[in-house]
Amino acid sequence: MPDHVHPTPDAQRVACEVCLKEVPKSEATVAEAADYVAYFCGLDCYQTWQAQARATGDVPKASPP
Ligand SMILES: [Zn+2]
Repeated sequence: MPDHVHPTPDAQRVACEVCLKEVPKSEATVAEAADYVAYFCGLDCYQTWQAQARATGDVPKASPP
């Protein structure tokens, strides 16, 4: 009787930076910013995030002063 069934590390999920939808890490689009890594459910959200970064002249920071 299996009593140690756990998700494998390969099944790790991440939240999209833009729409917060959870996607498997292996399928996420990844952007490496200055000091953190952002994940996206697809190219649409990735491009949305990039457009926002360009609009502000920098990559959005998680915690402004
Ligand atoms: Zn998304």
